[in-house]
Amino acid sequence: MKRISHWIGGRVALGTSGREGRVFNPALGEQTAVVDLASAAEVDAAAATARDAYPGWRATSLAKRAEVLFNLHELVDGNRKEIAALITSEHGKVLSDAEGEVARGLENIEFACGLPHLLKGGYSEQAASGVDVYSILQPLGVVAGITPFNFPAMVPMWMFASAIACGNCFVLKPSEKDPSASLFLAELWKQAGLPDGVFSVVQGDKEAVDRILVHPDISAVSFVGSTPIARHVYETGTRHGKRVQALGGAKNHMVVLPDADIDMAADAAVSAGYGSAGERCMAVSVVVAVGGIGDRLVDAIAERIPAVRVGPGDDPTSEMGPLVTGAHRDRVASYLDDGALGGARIVVDGRETLPEGDGFYLGATLVDDVRPGAPVYDDEVFGPVLSVVRVGSYDHAVRLVNDNPYGNGVALFTRDGGVARRFQYDVQVGMVGINVPIPVPVAYYSFGGWKASLFGDSHMYGPEGIHFYTRTKVVTARWPDPSTSAVDLGFPQNR
Ligand code: NAD
Repeated sequence: MKRISHWIGGRVALGTSGREGRVFNPALGEQTAVVDLASAAEVDAAAATARDAYPGWRATSLAKRAEVLFNLHELVDGNRKEIAALITSEHGKVLSDAEGEVARGLENIEFACGLPHLLKGGYSEQAASGVDVYSILQPLGVVAGITPFNFPAMVPMWMFASAIACGNCFVLKPSEKDPSASLFLAELWKQAGLPDGVFSVVQGDKEAVDRILVHPDISAVSFVGSTPIARHVYETGTRHGKRVQALGGAKNHMVVLPDADIDMAADAAVSAGYGSAGERCMAVSVVVAVGGIGDRLVDAIAERIPAVRVGPGDDPTSEMGPLVTGAHRDRVASYLDDGALGGARIVVDGRETLPEGDGFYLGATLVDDVRPGAPVYDDEVFGPVLSVVRVGSYDHAVRLVNDNPYGNGVALFTRDGGVARRFQYDVQVGMVGINVPIPVPVAYYSFGGWKASLFGDSHMYGPEGIHFYTRTKVVTARWPDPSTSAVDLGFPQNR
């Protein structure tokens, strides 16, 4: 059986902890690999190579660092299909989705290629008489990234492109559910010319994470995952003196006003609700139908669901793949039990027509008349279950969104620019789409939610990513007036 190990010091490092996890092909429901799970000592080994590599990488010129990033960009671009195939084989998402993930990650490498510009400081000449003040952005040292299963290539790229461009060494702890993409990316970094030790991968679970959070040589931690673990990472990391950005879970609403284009809204709800089997932190989970539009909208969504063909991710005719594990599929399906529905009505039941075999499938499911207080509304379901909540007014819709503990993404569908402008002002969510269901910011903005969707004050990638991975030094300088020099430099005296 395939064994997936660590990447330390520029090469594959076999695990020594004696602990391993199981990796599945979710479309077959079969185990295909084992992944080594790091002990604290293996995290220490990765951190030590990173610490040793840091002085050299920090001293590497901006031009040389940019060259390595351009090389990496070309290599990831040229290997899109290979990376996507690895993602699909362990995560289950359809290949087009997996390629989309690589493309969105690539944007972050492209952004980081601009590092000479991004790392410019400020300069104030003559702040006082004969005194200049200037700021320099310097790297933090060794930084770590801990990533979730749902984007095994893109989320690491969100983090490591900027972190390494800024002159840091980066230790990645990927999800143990789909660990292969990170090792492939490590190989590409090496081919791109990155010195050994600047990028490491430690495969693992809680044991590796908990060592990272207290490690004395790790200065900062970027985390993306569920809210309870994000809170744990933020609280433990900051208690140990680290800079931490921890992005958590989500419950994204899509508000549809009575004047919206119904077909456009229904297409958006289907692609944003069921794409990647709903396992996206920006997936639409709740459609809020405002003021009598409910029946038409529910009918339009239900009409489209048969076209969401469920099947293996590597079958080009599949629109939606399986969920990542059998346990996760069962958990998502449990939200369709009476107790979890709290009186809501199943319009389309994804348990009814499934592909044959043992794959971890659940079909696209639509639930109407959902109310707050029912677990299917209150919890992050993270699967292909779309809830519809009906409300009477714009104000009620905004209250519903703002009362939710999460604040990752939200979308509004309307033809009215004035209402859209009012919505972006009123809504307490970090990323807002106007007639755009999944408003993931382009790489030159930053990504982050509010409330229980983000712990810390820096959003990820883009300008805030550069801010997170650097610290500012401000120099106040006075040089003796050259006219007072003991050496005659040809300046007029007493100028
Ligand atoms: P998860 O929280 O279970 O795991 C995330 C990471 O934490 C993994 O590397 C995992 O190994 C580690 N981990 C798991 N349990 C741990 C523990 N007890 N102690 C220490 N570390 C632990 O998340 P997941 O299931 O891999 O990913 C799905 C979740 O991630 C969803 O909640 C989703 O909304 C969220 N997510 C959020 C964003 C965002 O940008 N806000 C993006 C992607 C995913």
